[in-house]
Amino acid sequence: MDRAPAVEVESYERRYRDLAGELAAVGYIASGSLARRYNRCGKPRCACHADPARLHGPYWLFTAKVNGKTVNRRLSEDEAALYEQWIANDRKARSLLAEMRALADKLRPLILEQHPDQAPRSPEPKRRRSSPQPRAASSRGGS
Ligand SMILES: [Zn+2]
Repeated sequence: MDRAPAVEVESYERRYRDLAGELAAVGYIASGSLARRYNRCGKPRCACHADPARLHGPYWLFTAKVNGKTVNRRLSEDEAALYEQWIANDRKARSLLAEMRALADKLRPLILEQHPDQAPRSPEPKRRRSSPQPRAASSRGGS
């Protein structure tokens, strides 16, 4: 692999900062889903038990996973409108983050390449000390 052109790194970095800026501007977020529901109540004489039935609703139901458990929350029309926005924000935030991650995947090796005291990658580095250091924990320029 050739040495990374600085221009390439620069344009990636610019895009990355743009994405980070967009992410910062995302409003409140909610991770979950919204559904419209019609219900039957417990009163046997209610119209919701008649034939044809007139069910109650529609109700808005927000469903989310909290600590691995599914949690429902009933919402009014106004609340549902807010949640709709928050859910859209959440989707936006996640897609921005995914794009940032993909960009960072490209950027990291380029940045490492520009680094003057990069660790040799292959073949395996000569042993500097008697005890081998774990890769993840190795401190930079520790000599
Ligand atoms: Zn009813």
